Amino acid sequence: MTSSEFAFELAVCQWAERAWSPSDDAAVLVARQFGTKHRRWDTIVLECDPVGLQERAKFGTESFHSDLLHVLRHAPADWTYYRDALPDPGYPWRYVRESIHEAADRDAIETRKRSNRIEIRRVRPYPDWLRRIIAIENKPDLTASAARNLVPQLERDIALSLADEVWVATATTDERVEPILLADLPAAAGVLTVDPESGTAETVWQPRSLSVDEPGTRILDRPDDDTSAARFEYVDTDWKHERRLAIAERAYARGWRAYADTMRPDCRHFQLSADETGVYPHCAAKDCLPTAAECRGQCPSYEPEPPTWRSMDWPLDGGPGKAIKRLLTRRRRRQRPGLSE
Ligand code: SF4
Repeated sequence: MTSSEFAFELAVCQWAERAWSPSDDAAVLVARQFGTKHRRWDTIVLECDPVGLQERAKFGTESFHSDLLHVLRHAPADWTYYRDALPDPGYPWRYVRESIHEAADRDAIETRKRSNRIEIRRVRPYPDWLRRIIAIENKPDLTASAARNLVPQLERDIALSLADEVWVATATTDERVEPILLADLPAAAGVLTVDPESGTAETVWQPRSLSVDEPGTRILDRPDDDTSAARFEYVDTDWKHERRLAIAERAYARGWRAYADTMRPDCRHFQLSADETGVYPHCAAKDCLPTAAECRGQCPSYEPEPPTWRSMDWPLDGGPGKAIKRLLTRRRRRQRPGLSE
């Protein structure tokens, strides 16, 4: 395996999916490269209510964005005029009507017209399936300057408290994590060392549980000198709750194996290699784990699968590229109990 950040990120996701152990009976879902417009986390772990997760599956694999969630979460059990059923969204009602039609098209709610008014009714309650969000920042090579560069981001995460826990994951080395590095990082952030070769991890510093149910602070501007004031704004708990659920919905839909969507599994050199730690993309031409940035159509070694691989003579339907995508999709679905095949 190469030592790229991408390879490390996949190793962290594999480990988290296999070994993350919540303190309760929670089911675990892992996703990568998620967050808000302002902040993207490398890896996120969702701790989910097991029954709620099964109920969530009844709404299908696709995610619901926050406008749709507004409709789903308030859809009544009995036919009701939509404006009586849903709280004022804080934006024009015509957008709510669009979301109602979108939700109905996905069979997530039912609609009917009475006296020229749209009435809605839920098909089933939208479940309370998300318990906790764990955000992990991956820094395989945690040097003193990398740790210092991370500090402003981590302080923003802690002040906003959108995730329940914030961690830094770094690669295991022969050295222990220097106490000076720990001293540089905010005490509320956890530190984890991950060994990609053995697929194991060790907690070096326990994080603090953040106050996700209280208003947060968004740090807008943080001057370097000590004399200027930082600029910040408050975010309320409703906003945080809504954002958390929207993040969880997208994570539910995408997981962390979506790299096959942007890489080139249709290249004849693209393979999946498996060892006891998990399954990784492998480039036979370069004999390495290619990064998502290099494994593209512009890659000088890219060669499309020969057409005969996709023909009836090939034992896998659609050729190996399609088969790889199907395999990754099946593995993603396995983590989401209750989804129909
Ligand atoms: S040759 Fe290039 S495009 Fe093909 S698998 Fe390797 S990195 Fe990806």
